[in-house]
Amino acid sequence: MAERIREHRHQHVRVAVIGSGFGGLGAAVRLRRAGVTDFTVLERSDSVGGTWRDNSYPGCACDVPSHLYSFSFAPNPDWPRNFSGQPHIRAYLERVTDTFGLRPHIRFNSEVLSARWNTERLHWEIDTASGPLTADVVISATGPLSDPRIPDVPGLDTFPGKVFHSAQWDHDYDIRGKRVAMIGTGASAIQIVPAIQPDVERLTLFQRTPPWVMQRMDRRISGLERRLHSVLPVTATLRRGLLWGVRELQVQAFTKRPQQLGLVEKLAKAHMHKAIKDKDLRAKLTPDYRIGCKRILLSNTYYPALARPNVDLVASGLKEVRGSTLVAADGTETEADAIVFGTGFHVTDMPIAERVTGAAGHTLAEEWKDGMAALRGSSVPGFPNFLMIIGPNTGLGNSSMILMIESQLNYAMDHLRQLDVLGGTAALDARPEATDAWTEKVRQRMKRTVWNTGGCTSWYLDANGNNTTVWPGTTGEFRKATRHVDLAEYEVLRAPARTGPEPHPAAATAPATAATASSPTPTTPTTQPTGETAA
Ligand code: NAP
Repeated sequence: MAERIREHRHQHVRVAVIGSGFGGLGAAVRLRRAGVTDFTVLERSDSVGGTWRDNSYPGCACDVPSHLYSFSFAPNPDWPRNFSGQPHIRAYLERVTDTFGLRPHIRFNSEVLSARWNTERLHWEIDTASGPLTADVVISATGPLSDPRIPDVPGLDTFPGKVFHSAQWDHDYDIRGKRVAMIGTGASAIQIVPAIQPDVERLTLFQRTPPWVMQRMDRRISGLERRLHSVLPVTATLRRGLLWGVRELQVQAFTKRPQQLGLVEKLAKAHMHKAIKDKDLRAKLTPDYRIGCKRILLSNTYYPALARPNVDLVASGLKEVRGSTLVAADGTETEADAIVFGTGFHVTDMPIAERVTGAAGHTLAEEWKDGMAALRGSSVPGFPNFLMIIGPNTGLGNSSMILMIESQLNYAMDHLRQLDVLGGTAALDARPEATDAWTEKVRQRMKRTVWNTGGCTSWYLDANGNNTTVWPGTTGEFRKATRHVDLAEYEVLRAPARTGPEPHPAAATAPATAATASSPTPTTPTTQPTGETAA
């Protein structure tokens, strides 16, 4: 281990990828396919999978059909169900890692502590938990759902029982026979509730805002279908195409004609009526905002679980904890042995932004103090050669994020191609005016979407009420917008060709090791970044 860390001390790579979830692994595959082998994937944990590694709570599954929620370049004819569970998705990502020979590229236990742009040498200086490295290009694939958010509830530290977040499920804790308080009613909570309800003594659900929940059209994919997909891969492609096409048509109602969603609300209400016979409970569970404004949830087991006698619904948020007593905003008091927070993630304030410092010496978080924005969801002015996967306004309300990830990978690969064409040491820095124009276009289109007009607050909106997370169009439109890097939207930064690797500043202060002693003598080329306008 120590040897490996020493080896890393002077590593310079063409591309450093941050994260090994769908985004990071996808980037690694695409880099290899583009003939780039000089890259490293930095992973903070000890295995791949990202959100599908971390979220292992009971009932965890994907509500996008698996034949669409998978890479186009790595079809899996063997998906067992329409909507696969977390273990299957995680296993799929492990298989992708092995099939495409990605493991040698991955540095596990290598959380990125900081990344700083060197304006003279035109590269990124990255410090990680396993040592520093430098990279010409950074592809940041940290994902929006990677850092759990636990609300700052007064008195939480006085709670004597067990507390954990849905993304950090403690499988050693025996929940059977316990009085459990579930906080939140988002996509995670509605999967957890029916999964643990039969085992716990009492389940109290703290609901601040009721979600719209629809029937989940789930079923086992038969052996015959799977064999067919295996023998005739075109059938799996057709299946994927159909799943994609239906969602492309549906999205118009979300983005352009939210009034059409009234019919969908009727279906969701009928779904609730079937399971919830108690009128008062139905009233508490009925949302007062347009369906789709928050993510539409899919479950056939959530409402039936709420109707069970060992479940209580508190139609109010958790406000305070006093020892083992949980106090809701409406004053309801509940005794509990365990609290499970299904309270979501740091989406609009992603922690990696605080660790990335651009050309002007300020962090991405500072750059984004008034809200996240990026050219085509990928690049931010002043952060050259830094490309995001699932950047601002690339999220989806109704389809597969893998489609958006693959679009952003197309863009990142074209960025690398453009650098190759430019030759020498060069970097591309998004122009502020191009970024502003893109952001304005997104904002204009956002105005009439259900996410902005539906009468709810959601994690799609930032602290200023701006929607900086969702893409207000079809996945096809985003694919088109990210097919190529338009050099007119970038400033080309140049430096003379490098003649040898330069030690990372952190390495220079590290104790001398065999690796540092034998590393080549650093050279300091007289770099002179020159703004160059490309046609
Ligand atoms: P989330 O959607 O952000 O939901 C957080 C929940 O916590 C909301 O219901 C929120 O209420 C509630 N909350 C926050 N503070 C509270 C308090 N003090 N008291 C009571 N409730 C409180 O988080 P999530 O469920 O983890 O889902 C996050 C995202 O992960 C999803 O939107 C989805 O994109 C993804 N996900 C996907 C799947 C899938 O099947 N593909 C499954 C799970 C998660 P308010 O609504 O009032 O804010």
